[in-house]
Amino acid sequence: MQINFYDFQNIYIEEKFRVHKNTQKILSKIEGNPKVSYIEDVNDFIKSLPVVYSPEERSKNLLLTGIRGEILRRCPGSSGHICCNYYVINLYVGCPLGCSYCILQSYLNQNVTIINVDIENIFYEVEKIVTENPDKIYRIGTGELGDSLVYDYLTEYSLEFINFFANFKNCLFEFKTKTNFIDNILQKESPGNIIIGFSVNPELIVKNDEVFANTFEERLIAAKKLVEKNYKIALHFDPIINIKDSTNEYAYVIEKIFSYISPNDVAWISLGTFRYTPNLKNMVEYNYQGSKILFDEFVECRDKKFRYFKKIRLKLYEQVVTNLKNFSKDLLIYLCMESPAVWEESLGFLPYEEKKIDLLFKNAIKR
Ligand code: SF4
Repeated sequence: MQINFYDFQNIYIEEKFRVHKNTQKILSKIEGNPKVSYIEDVNDFIKSLPVVYSPEERSKNLLLTGIRGEILRRCPGSSGHICCNYYVINLYVGCPLGCSYCILQSYLNQNVTIINVDIENIFYEVEKIVTENPDKIYRIGTGELGDSLVYDYLTEYSLEFINFFANFKNCLFEFKTKTNFIDNILQKESPGNIIIGFSVNPELIVKNDEVFANTFEERLIAAKKLVEKNYKIALHFDPIINIKDSTNEYAYVIEKIFSYISPNDVAWISLGTFRYTPNLKNMVEYNYQGSKILFDEFVECRDKKFRYFKKIRLKLYEQVVTNLKNFSKDLLIYLCMESPAVWEESLGFLPYEEKKIDLLFKNAIKR
């Protein structure tokens, strides 16, 4: 199902960004007749908003501001679980794609979606950090607090990020998306270190649990177009859901992927089974009453998140890994937020050394 993601009721603009070029560009592309207001103090403004739990409600109101705090942050990972050394930059806070399992529901409750307009500040800070450590490999992405491309039509940030990261070969920069909003990216050939990551899942899950995202096939068509421009593709089987006939369902997904692109086009593949915090469970029950993702047995893990029993997780990973390896033994596959025991049993190795993991990723895009 598609909705108009740019049909805002209210647009709030931090006064100091009123004439900023990105503010002006975004405003010029928004259709309809939203009410536009200017605000002085963003923190006070956000505190004054009513609390909302519905992502759909939140996405009707847009706030254009800069984002405070650390610009390039290590992905928080999960206690007692292996981390893959990912760094995140927050361009957007909030996401209209309506995935029932979205973790953002458990901690965002302000009634606005934020677009960070101050990307000069991001580039300034990132340049300082990555040039201070030229031998370190940085894997960086923007998809932590919202889909990386869902607002790209308004912002055109993808073009600016591609231009920026083209200068820093010790960085691997990834856009993570469930959309096919790649028109801006297609204007450029890949400079070599830009990866477009697509989340993939059986169509049944896309239809029931990713209701406003593009279909699986639309994402694959987009991936194929990107490959023609020399971009590398990442695939995220996350969350893998323990559906009926999961063996065949995931085998079909993998077969379909490699009917559009080749294993050589793939930089890396992450796998993660569905997990939730108690708060996310409440939110799924509140926002997505038709979803069946909680209809299973789960166990509380060391990081206080609930996951399928280890035996089930191992079975799901084994199915996906075996099918992937049938297409190529060279695919770089890693697990997201999993215990060392599950890593070792599923993949046969433990990536304990930070430098080794980074090198694996760097080499993966040279294939
Ligand atoms: S695309 Fe990602 S951020 Fe957006 S709703 Fe889905 S899970 Fe959440």
